[in-house]
Amino acid sequence: MTWYEKLLLVAAMVVFMECFAWATHKYVMHGWGWGWHRSHHEPHDGALEKNDLYAVTFAAIVIGLFVVGIYLEPVWWIAFGITVYGAIYAFVHDMLVHQRFGMRWVPRRGYFKRLHQAHRLHHAVKGKDGGVSFGFLFAPDPVKLKRRLGERASR
Ligand SMILES: [Zn+2]
Ligand SMILES: [Zn+2]
Repeated sequence: MTWYEKLLLVAAMVVFMECFAWATHKYVMHGWGWGWHRSHHEPHDGALEKNDLYAVTFAAIVIGLFVVGIYLEPVWWIAFGITVYGAIYAFVHDMLVHQRFGMRWVPRRGYFKRLHQAHRLHHAVKGKDGGVSFGFLFAPDPVKLKRRLGERASR
């Protein structure tokens, strides 16, 4: 593979994973997978939450892909693209929004502020249903999200 084929594949995987994460979060984690995800919507004292099992599951799949990638080069780069997304996700979601691992930076403007607010609004709904903003890197306008939450609350 040429370097630009690799780069394209990694970039495509990051975009694909954002769509995949959105769908998984909306339909699996807030669906039949709520048993694990609930812990992420409830306050707790421990450093770990049951929801982290999702990260462990995805990591196991990616390790499997890396192993296949030893024999099939494109699969290795697909696994690498998923890992890049995983790293961005861990930084934005776990560190930036949820302040895990000792991170204490609250963005005051720009794209990161929007991301931060959008995911905070996802957590404004404590239960399984009626939530907004299931994506992570693609953050909808917080003003629109608030309006949608308001409409649902008044129904
Ligand atoms: Zn959620
Ligand atoms: Zn969260």
